[in-house]
Amino acid sequence: MSNTIMKGFGTKAIHAGLEPDPSTGAVMTPIYQTSTYAQEAPGVHKGFEYSRTHNPTRKALENNLAALEGGKHGLVFASGLAAIDTLLKTLHPGDEVISTNDLYGGTYRLFVKVYEKLGLKFHFVPMQDLSSIEKKINEKTRLIWVETPTNPMLNVIDIESVATLAKSKGGILLAVDNTFSSPYLQQPLKLGADVVMHSATKYIGGHSDLVMGALITSNDNLAEQLYFLQNAAGAIPGPMDCFLALRGIKTLHVRMQRHCENAEKIARFLRSHPKVEKVFWPGFPDHPGHDIAKKQMRAFGGMISFTIKGDRVEDAYKAISSLKIFTLAESLGGVESLAGHPATMTHASIPKAERLKSGLSDSLIRLSIGLEDAEDLIADLKHVLQ
Ligand SMILES: *Cc1c(COP(=O)(O)O)cnc(C)c1O
Repeated sequence: MSNTIMKGFGTKAIHAGLEPDPSTGAVMTPIYQTSTYAQEAPGVHKGFEYSRTHNPTRKALENNLAALEGGKHGLVFASGLAAIDTLLKTLHPGDEVISTNDLYGGTYRLFVKVYEKLGLKFHFVPMQDLSSIEKKINEKTRLIWVETPTNPMLNVIDIESVATLAKSKGGILLAVDNTFSSPYLQQPLKLGADVVMHSATKYIGGHSDLVMGALITSNDNLAEQLYFLQNAAGAIPGPMDCFLALRGIKTLHVRMQRHCENAEKIARFLRSHPKVEKVFWPGFPDHPGHDIAKKQMRAFGGMISFTIKGDRVEDAYKAISSLKIFTLAESLGGVESLAGHPATMTHASIPKAERLKSGLSDSLIRLSIGLEDAEDLIADLKHVLQ
């Protein structure tokens, strides 16, 4: 289908980059579960030689994701971290990276435990304050890494302002981890970012049944390096997982709408509850990032964090262990609601002193609001807060 007729997000989610299968007319992209492809003569083939390099199911997903982020090139990887790892491999020893200080624990671990050893230098700063970035920029700065809304504190970073700053300093690459928003809620390339990263494990897959990552860019030079690395290092997903991601994406817009609606109801309930100390959700007008969120996001997302009065770990433990509908688990973005304790789960790889600096207290509970009935989720929370 021609891309010019596809204006709306839902139409693109269902059709962009996808054609009925040329050999059979199959409407849904087949799972090309093959490692290799027959050649008519040496080097004469239909564009596919070996599945580390190219696979038709993966290609369809990559084209679809590129369209959803408004980018030219999409690449998918075996996990979100494999996607970040591939981007970092474009850098050289001595290069410096400025990163959001409140970020996914695995990203922090990859930066500090793997790439510092290989000669990259990382600065972690509170990017809600733009001057904190500017202070760390020097002639070695190559990459600015933004996660917004942040995980788990739900701070909001102004992508457009960071992009302007990065460009004014001689074209430092700006990468945005868009996992928490999904392309439906936020499109960083349109705000001036150079590359978007996703843990497709989360909202894009949407059903907690796969692990996958993605990078999307319109920068031809960067894309060429990334394609080279994708093939050279080989951290690619299999065709079955690509099929599952494509299947998930077809309902991404509908799911996101309900995630956001449910999260709003639950955030309001938690805020009104006498046992709850603080609720972190960018939809509240008094949230410090509310105006930026309104400017750069379509809605406020499905993630909420909160603390219980008294700030005791035991209370947080007791609450999350007694939930019946919410499952105590890592991850987010699936149809089912999850509750987590970042200090001991997703963010345990960040030292406590670093965690406290970004406001992540030991009693913080993070919720990924699913697509169940909001009334049932509220009843579940009400019960454990008593
Ligand atoms: C999960 C997650 C990642 C890592 O992705 P994986 O698919 O688990 O490797 C990176 N960033 C954010 C914000 C995440 O939530």
